[in-house]
Amino acid sequence: MKPVLRVQDLAKAYRPGGPAVAGVSFAVAPGEIFALLGPSGSGKTTTLRLIAGFERPDRGEVWIAGRQASGGGRFLPPEERGVGYVFQDHALFPHLTVLENVMFGLHRRPPRRRRARALEVLDLVGLTVFKDRRPDELSGGQQQRVALARAIAPGPPLVLLDEAFSSLDAGLREVTRAEVRALLKATGTSAVLVTHDQEEALSFADRLGVMRAGRLVQVGTPEEVYHLPATPFVARFLGHTNLVPARAHGDWAETPLGRVPLARPAEGAVRLSIRPEHLELLPPQAAEGVPGRVRSRAFKGHDLTLEVEAAGRRYRVQADYRSRFFPGDPVRVRVREPAVAVGRNAEAEPPGVKRERAAD
Ligand code: ADP
Ligand code: MG
Repeated sequence: MKPVLRVQDLAKAYRPGGPAVAGVSFAVAPGEIFALLGPSGSGKTTTLRLIAGFERPDRGEVWIAGRQASGGGRFLPPEERGVGYVFQDHALFPHLTVLENVMFGLHRRPPRRRRARALEVLDLVGLTVFKDRRPDELSGGQQQRVALARAIAPGPPLVLLDEAFSSLDAGLREVTRAEVRALLKATGTSAVLVTHDQEEALSFADRLGVMRAGRLVQVGTPEEVYHLPATPFVARFLGHTNLVPARAHGDWAETPLGRVPLARPAEGAVRLSIRPEHLELLPPQAAEGVPGRVRSRAFKGHDLTLEVEAAGRRYRVQADYRSRFFPGDPVRVRVREPAVAVGRNAEAEPPGVKRERAAD
């Protein structure tokens, strides 16, 4: 099927020498929800603004529903791109009612149809009873649903959402997110969500792209990107992990925690990503694992995190809420899932070799 959005080698610098977006390519299929995930300043909003037509690219192309919107000497203004947007701050008109706000996006239709369509979309987002209220008489989550209703009312094939849930508090954010996702799926609308929140990207998107310094460093399903990170940066950005030096021999590796199977074949001196939930603590008399000692324990309610020292390194271990290990306890540490080689092992490389910086 033809993609609803295709972005090809898109680049934009606001000032010479410091590109905000430095060659980004991806495509979004009909009905697909795609997330751009990355730290603040990595170029997510600029990418979205280039897609929307709020910015002109220095280089590259944007294709929306088979039509070239930017590139090759063309530049369609935002209002001709047929795309809906939802921003972090809702940007609702404070002096208009909910119904009028949604009707605003339908200015190209005859007045009678505008009202009927706006009521239909408000029904879809469950806000019919609030149609005569003004935005300041609604909760943050309700305002966000109005903003979404306004964006989807004209029936665009693609909606762009920039940190659309970030201003909501935790509980409301999760509920609103699930509702918005269900609505996009029910209407077959494609979406690109920009977020710096890894949990949001993992739970909202069908596929996601991880951005760093203006580039996409990895694109895949949430499971692929979480379980098979391409670089140490991706491994860390998607959640906690232990980066461990190892020597790889194809589908297994020698590590300070013993022999470990690899999820992806590798050779030589590598760094492995081992997720905290992939480590297991056993009693000191167990036959498996390597000996270690618990250094700290943080209770989280549904689970808990332990820091364990073993073979001269510290490891973060996620344990069941029933775990009976406490600081000072001797344990054995076992790797219970295949690990992932995420790059060369800088510790084992000669000086002068360029290496990926672990933190940003
Ligand atoms: P993100 O949305 O991932 O936080 P942005 O796309 O907003 O990142 O910003 C990427 C880079 O471009 C940052 O270094 C930011 O400071 C810079 N930038 C963003 N917008 C502008 C602008 N209007 N003028 C100048 N620099 C900008
Ligand atoms: Mg941004």
